Amino acid sequence: MANKDVTDPARMEKIVSLCKRRGFIYQAGELYGGLNGCWDYGPLGAELKRNLKDYWWRKTVQERDDILGMDGAILTHQDVLKASGHVGGFSDPMIDCKTCKGRYRADNLDNLECGRKPSCHPGEHKECELTEPRAFDLMLSTKLGALATDNDPKAVAYLRPETAQSIFVQYKNVLDSNRIKLPFGIAQIGKSFRNEINPRNYTFRSREFEQMEIEFFCRPEDGMRLTDEWLESRLCFYEEIGIPREKLHILDVPDGERAFYSKKTYDIEYEFPFGIQELEGVAYRTDYDLGVHQKGAGKPLEYFDEETKEKFLPHVVEPSAGCDRTVLAMICEAFEEEELTDEKGKKDVRTVMRFAPRMAPIKAGIFPLLKKNEEQVRICREIQKKLQPWMNVFYDDGGAVGRRYRRQDEVGTPFCITVDFDTLGENGEELKDTVTIRHRDSMEQERVPLDSLLQWLLERVR
Ligand code: ATP
Repeated sequence: MANKDVTDPARMEKIVSLCKRRGFIYQAGELYGGLNGCWDYGPLGAELKRNLKDYWWRKTVQERDDILGMDGAILTHQDVLKASGHVGGFSDPMIDCKTCKGRYRADNLDNLECGRKPSCHPGEHKECELTEPRAFDLMLSTKLGALATDNDPKAVAYLRPETAQSIFVQYKNVLDSNRIKLPFGIAQIGKSFRNEINPRNYTFRSREFEQMEIEFFCRPEDGMRLTDEWLESRLCFYEEIGIPREKLHILDVPDGERAFYSKKTYDIEYEFPFGIQELEGVAYRTDYDLGVHQKGAGKPLEYFDEETKEKFLPHVVEPSAGCDRTVLAMICEAFEEEELTDEKGKKDVRTVMRFAPRMAPIKAGIFPLLKKNEEQVRICREIQKKLQPWMNVFYDDGGAVGRRYRRQDEVGTPFCITVDFDTLGENGEELKDTVTIRHRDSMEQERVPLDSLLQWLLERVR
């Protein structure tokens, strides 16, 4: 069993620095001092995140015939979140330190730093003076329309704290507008907002973040079994995006620590450099959600089973993953400083991001061996045009080829294509119209014919 307290701050620092230097992630509003708990994804981060979301959607919606997608509004009717229990009930326990004036999440003190002495946790320093915990509301609200100026309470709307609620509220519409039977799911990817007391660990705990959620509706007797099946299926997903099973930990949340309506909850956790922390929750939520909305809206949400003629509220299994946390886990997993020794015995370190090729922000680098050779450049531009509709590629003719390889290694590009004199047929007919492909991980090279290049890459990056 891995130790939750084992951390590697030096590694994390290097990762954060690479992410800024190479354009993965920037602090939101950095120019003005930064907005705490909010992050902007730069060009490579945006590609990485998009690849994750596209793959999740493909696996969850496109390749299954029992799950439908939706895209709900972020601004949420206050009555929806009153019925769900979020308004007035979605809070974390907070304590203040009267000495340093710090405010801390009371159930997370072990992961926080004392305002006086960062090597201690709040409460451990002799001068700490902590108050009793009190509930801190995590909901972010706004006011809509002309009523807002009159301070009319009806103008209040919320930025959703999770994507799930719009799925529950639209469940009946999805059911009625599609010929679908239990068990079936509705999936959604989208932004959520929580006014976290202590946003920290880079993007791990943010105030604005994205979720990838599935609400899987089923008959009550299938709930427990499906929860286990979903756990397994989600673990496989993480392997497919490059997060190995041995770095994932399953926490079977014990009685008393689960939400009161949940009969079973698994947390899928990952070994981040700042400790083992939650990536995703897989929860069996019973019929709680549909039940509260049926009551709150006063409209029936039952399912009618044509075969058995029964009418009942479906139960729900919810695999709820954090998109930003998964991106961060992929980045942490990919980062490596590899020690190399060349033929002359000279030691060197190469920084390489070993992203799973299907997640890599750039799939292939395209290089002419010599940028002054017009024919090599022309062929490279042709390759680029041919690949661009299918994948993100990057043309580079600056500096020695070795340096260009290293630049791509550092951002995780799995393949680099070089057009050289062999491609032009200058060293014989045999290699004419072939290119060199250099593999990021093994650094080995092979020759691939130009006319099968697209297929060769597609087989490896999909
Ligand atoms: P935590 O205990 O870490 O606060 P949670 O149990 O409240 O998380 P859920 O409400 O189950 O989280 O949300 C489902 C998923 O959404 C989490 O597993 C996580 O990946 C993501 N998530 C939740 N809160 C945040 C946040 N503040 N920043 C980034 N991702 C988040």
